Amino acid sequence: MQYRRLGRTGLQLSALSFGAWVTFGRQVGRSDARELLALAWDRGVNFFDNAETYNHGDAERLMGDVLADLRFPRDSYCVSSKVYFGVADKPRPTQRGLSRKHVIEACNQALERLRVGHLDLYFCHRPDPETPIEETVAAMDTLIRQGKVLYWGTSEWPAAAIHEAHRIAQAMHMYAPVVEQPQYNLLHRERVEQEYAPLYASYGMGTTIWSPLASGLLSGKYNQGVPEGSRLTQPGYEWLRDIVLGEGGERVQKVKRLPAIAAEADVTPAQLAIAWCLANPNVSTVLLGASRKEQLEQNLGVLDLLPRFDLALKERIEQALA
Ligand code: NDP
Repeated sequence: MQYRRLGRTGLQLSALSFGAWVTFGRQVGRSDARELLALAWDRGVNFFDNAETYNHGDAERLMGDVLADLRFPRDSYCVSSKVYFGVADKPRPTQRGLSRKHVIEACNQALERLRVGHLDLYFCHRPDPETPIEETVAAMDTLIRQGKVLYWGTSEWPAAAIHEAHRIAQAMHMYAPVVEQPQYNLLHRERVEQEYAPLYASYGMGTTIWSPLASGLLSGKYNQGVPEGSRLTQPGYEWLRDIVLGEGGERVQKVKRLPAIAAEADVTPAQLAIAWCLANPNVSTVLLGASRKEQLEQNLGVLDLLPRFDLALKERIEQALA
């Protein structure tokens, strides 16, 4: 495994990490979750990502059970949660958002579900237009001073709101966000590469990037239609189908150009797509998702490709998908 500093912090995260969205508590039950986490940890993964909203808290409950069962030393891994969407199907106003009340209560609930004494990383899952940023910065600062959270960050905040959080934190001598969790993959690049560019230089922010395979699309699994049991067939995720496949399947057409390049490099399209993410020095860690052990095994294998992943290969891939 390769380890990278989370931005300018002293925290070293594995370049490949593992997340629970959609899978834990839905596609993946206890024994599979145990196998996946054990495999990841054996290969040096030290960051496991979660959120209050994933399967209404069940993803955190399952991860917490399995982490306790596997008895990894608590100082050998990092675990995160995210706050904003709430746990309930139809949350009441105090059960969602980034108010001081919800940020603090959601943290306490995540600690219980994950069965840990602190969260290593705690993210504001989206910006909350109904809460002043000062209130959220102060709530995160409180949690850090209480030792319940070690580092806090944002997820999919506009760069302007992140600048504002830093301005407030500096003026009020509070802890500022050190990490952003954005989507980043071959088909979704602009925010990470352009909008956030000043944040890396000005504040030394790190990134824990999500959907490196665009929900599996870049593995080529949707090239011949949507396989039964895959993410896009999960009840409740119908909204994701058009986003992932693109209108009229236009994103699938682009992705069909990847397998030939992957074959020449003697890797799978998924490995090629993940290596491309890792080639960006502003990516601190690539969050992998997997519903099966073989997928995780394959995706972790990308580390063997890295020494061969040069500029020429990167440019070929980018041209193919442009
Ligand atoms: P990916 O884009 O890598 O999608 C993962 C899914 O793709 C798997 O569950 C599996 O789906 C399929 N897949 C993975 N590898 C392969 C393979 N080698 N061959 C075929 N299919 C494969 O990542 P995610 O979208 O899951 O994002 C990763 C993590 O990022 C999440 O778990 C979560 O922790 C975080 N995240 C954060 C968000 C945020 O707003 N902050 C939003 C979304 C995710 P299947 O088998 O079901 O088809």
